[in-house]
Amino acid sequence: MDTRIRRGRRALVNWLERLHRLAPAKSVVWVPAGTFALILVLWIGTISRIQAEGREARQAAAGATSQVASSFAAHIDKTVHDADVAVRWIKYEYERSPSTFRLDTYKEKGLISAGTALQVTIVGPDGEVLQTTTPEAQPVNVSDRRHFLAHKSSPDIGLYISRPVLGRVSHHWTLQFTRRLNNPDGSFAGVVVVSEDPDFLTTGFNNLEALGVGGMLVVMSDNGYLLSRLASGEHASPVGPPASAYREMVDAKGEGFTDPVDRVPRIVTYRHSTQYPVAVLAGISEKVALAGYRHARDLYILMAGLLTVVLLAAAAIITATMTRLVAARARMQHLAETDALTGLPNRYLLTEILRRRIGRERPLDRLALLFVDLDNFKRINDALGHQTGDELLQNVARRLVRVAGNKSFVARVGGDEFVLVVEGMDVAVAARDMARSIIDTFELAFGLRGNSYVMRVSIGVAVYTAESETEYDLLRQADLAMYAAKEEGRSANASRYHTFAPDLAVRGMRDIERQQELQYAIQNNEFFLEYQPIVSLDTGDTLGVEALVRWRHPEKGIVLPGEFIPFAESTGFIIPIGELILEAACAQFSEWMESDPRPLYLSVNVSAAQLVHGDLIGVIRQCLERHSIDPRRLKLEITETAILKDAALIARRLKELRLLGVRVVLDDFGTGYSSLAHLTNLMVDGVKIDRSFTRGVPGDRTALAMFQSIVSLTHDLGLSLVVEGVETEQQVNWLRRFGHIEVQGFYFCRPVAPGSLQAGRAA
Ligand code: C2E
Ligand code: CA
Ligand code: CA
Repeated sequence: MDTRIRRGRRALVNWLERLHRLAPAKSVVWVPAGTFALILVLWIGTISRIQAEGREARQAAAGATSQVASSFAAHIDKTVHDADVAVRWIKYEYERSPSTFRLDTYKEKGLISAGTALQVTIVGPDGEVLQTTTPEAQPVNVSDRRHFLAHKSSPDIGLYISRPVLGRVSHHWTLQFTRRLNNPDGSFAGVVVVSEDPDFLTTGFNNLEALGVGGMLVVMSDNGYLLSRLASGEHASPVGPPASAYREMVDAKGEGFTDPVDRVPRIVTYRHSTQYPVAVLAGISEKVALAGYRHARDLYILMAGLLTVVLLAAAAIITATMTRLVAARARMQHLAETDALTGLPNRYLLTEILRRRIGRERPLDRLALLFVDLDNFKRINDALGHQTGDELLQNVARRLVRVAGNKSFVARVGGDEFVLVVEGMDVAVAARDMARSIIDTFELAFGLRGNSYVMRVSIGVAVYTAESETEYDLLRQADLAMYAAKEEGRSANASRYHTFAPDLAVRGMRDIERQQELQYAIQNNEFFLEYQPIVSLDTGDTLGVEALVRWRHPEKGIVLPGEFIPFAESTGFIIPIGELILEAACAQFSEWMESDPRPLYLSVNVSAAQLVHGDLIGVIRQCLERHSIDPRRLKLEITETAILKDAALIARRLKELRLLGVRVVLDDFGTGYSSLAHLTNLMVDGVKIDRSFTRGVPGDRTALAMFQSIVSLTHDLGLSLVVEGVETEQQVNWLRRFGHIEVQGFYFCRPVAPGSLQAGRAA
């Protein structure tokens, strides 16, 4: 495509984008946006669900540890109490009678056994082991033991539980429950030590299942020792970390901690004994406690993930489809809005643009249309074929786009009709300048297939001047103005422009109606012919007949040619009407000739428009052939005013006609101007003196002079002569002085229907 057209199109596209604001593209964006919002909601829902379930699982685990911790604390109370009972009992027995107290005796009697304690030891006031249940024990001093030091220094501490120690007597890791021994005066007498296996605290506890695999139980003393620990079903080494390692778990109520010993994360609850300086911890392994929850969580994430993928895929497919649809719609819109031949906007798009423009901005005196119509396109198109015609239209489009430039644009609104839209200040002046520029560019011939053709254009200019006007009003005004330009241009055979003025509208409406009526009349065969004889003044014999057209109007009745021929001529309708007349007249004439042996001639009126624009020669040749009429028996009557316009072209056509053998008569002679020149140029075979001269006969002296000169001139040049409009006997008698002439008029016969005309016996 031509770069200029392309540039114009780009400007148009910008304009359109402003109009459409890219509305369809928006809907495409909504799909991914909506999908992302949906995915966001999905994930927020999933995550909050997961968090809720996590909380629930932790709460359940915390509840379980709390229960276990409570019952374990109760268990420890009881166990410690049991151990203490043994300690108290031995203390009581020993203090009652230190000298007679014999551990062995109790052992032998079964009062002390492995079930009661692993080992019972009586330590003297200096730390030396006085008695012990362990057989063959070596003498040992334990004055450095914490319990010994504690009891020795403070008489009131009651039960003292030491951390697990490697027994110096038992050589076992033991927990030692101790109380102070007093002399009767209350002074320090030593310590009674009941040693127990550290597991002693936890073994009897049967509620372990509630903690599950990886569960943990811890007993610790308030003085900072880890007394016993059972984790993952195994008793931990008593040489574990000090209780201080568990300090952060003090007062825990189901919180999560990483175990300082085995590094297992657990949910832990703390309980203090009600009676003794000990506390317990119960823990559930997070892995176990949260296994169900974690499984559900993974499932949720998997499902949400899958759903996300599905949504994304669906969104991608929908977006792609919609994008394609939008593109297809844009393509269709483009097709609907542009003219395929020239790539210019079409009538639809033009009206759309104008409507929005006018509707939004009311551009009073800032918007004008130029309606450009090619005057002679149809003829070139018919003569050269459609393909060449199309090429010509493309060339025309290019020229118009070039004239339009950047500030305005061109649309093609019909076969050979274009509209230029001009905008800006002083638009009326700009539009007229542009119209002149268009006319100038069209002065240059269009080169096509080695030939050059000059195109004539008629341009109608309309300016938007009233807010009440619609785009249709504006287009119609430009169209009417164009018709006015065409009328002006026709006579001068030149390109013209015309600016719309309100009076055109009234005329225009009537013209449009009349054109439609004519169109309808042609289609419905409303035209018919009457015939008027032309007789010899000498003999009264009929020499020929003149065909005169009439219109049987459905409402107005019979309409005479004076009322519609000029309009048909100015609108071009005379060409098809003229063809109908020639055909009907020839058909009628050949019918007469079959029964009438006389060499009558047929006179048919033709308009200059038929000569200039129609294919008159072709039509006549066909008619004559079809009806087997000798060309010499056909006379064509053409008014001499018609000859004045387009003189050179008409002269050429007349010459061609006469070469066919057809004769040409100058009608209405005397009403034109350079009458005699036409006669002397020998363009015609005869003349018909107009009835306006006959009217003056016989009284008028100038008429007499006129008749005399014409009669002698035609005689000298060998031209035939008919006097028309003869109405009275006086006129006939007066005309007899000219001898041998032909006459026509109501006196002899009015124009009549062919049936009432007895050709040959009319007079
Ligand atoms: P015209 O060619 O001068 O035709 C003669 C007109 O004079 C006819 O009027 C006819 O009826 C009328 N006439 C004939 N004898 C007398 C008479 O004694 N006294 C008076 N006052 N009038 C007489 P019509 O039929 O109304 O036609 C008017 C004009 O219309 C014609 O003038 C002709 O120019 C045009 N016309 C008629 N038929 C055709 C046609 O088929 N084609 C074309 N192009 N023009 C036609
Ligand atoms: Ca005539
Ligand atoms: Ca006449």
